[in-house]
Amino acid sequence: MVSIKTARELSLMKDACRISAEALRAAGEAVKPGISTYEIDTIVRKYIEKQGAKPSFLGYGGFPASACISVNSVVIHGIPAKTAVLKEGDIVSIDVGAYYRGFHGDNAYTFPCGKISENAQRLLNATKESLYEGIKQAQAQNRIGDIGSAVQEYVEARSYSVVRNYTGHGVGAKLHEDPSVPNYGTRGRGFKLLPGMTIAIEPMVNEGTHYTRVLGDKWTVVTLDGKLSAHFEHTVAITPDGPRILTLCE
Ligand code: MG
Repeated sequence: MVSIKTARELSLMKDACRISAEALRAAGEAVKPGISTYEIDTIVRKYIEKQGAKPSFLGYGGFPASACISVNSVVIHGIPAKTAVLKEGDIVSIDVGAYYRGFHGDNAYTFPCGKISENAQRLLNATKESLYEGIKQAQAQNRIGDIGSAVQEYVEARSYSVVRNYTGHGVGAKLHEDPSVPNYGTRGRGFKLLPGMTIAIEPMVNEGTHYTRVLGDKWTVVTLDGKLSAHFEHTVAITPDGPRILTLCE
């Protein structure tokens, strides 16, 4: 069921989203060669807990950490580990959610570790821009397919592919709510967007094939061809005045 938030609920949710964004920023500031993804996860958990919030992902479906940290060919759901030490040239997707006063915020960003290749930088730029192309379509009376098609067209015009097996989603009192928000689709199709809806838009973009597989740990999603993948996400509210990005630090 799709939930419509009142103005008061939206303002509570904005706090959860701000904490999520600040935790993500702190994680990004820690990305450098030599740090382990476990250490970054600890920074995220401590930051969120210090705000009196809870990491949304910790224990969700049994996930063992506060952040998903997905390096290079890992698409999403990478499990932080002491043995996963970042090196110069890695691209590091970090996905962070915080639960605060009854609501979740959810956001992700792919950070460069030190100096990265031009190819990797182009992938990051395209993925980030595709998120904003999607957000522009998050208008009342538009449909879910308007978001997905905007993302897909932007990405495919640059010869990248959008992941199909995983999508964005409604977010609010629960981390994952209806509707699902695919990064592909057909303009004018799908669920109609209404003021008060809050959705996580999160393009996952691959350098090569869109196909993915899950590793033996049952979490880590990697590209089938081993090429790079990037991931950017914001929690966005549909308002009468247009889309409002809730996961901003300011
Ligand atoms: Mg999400």
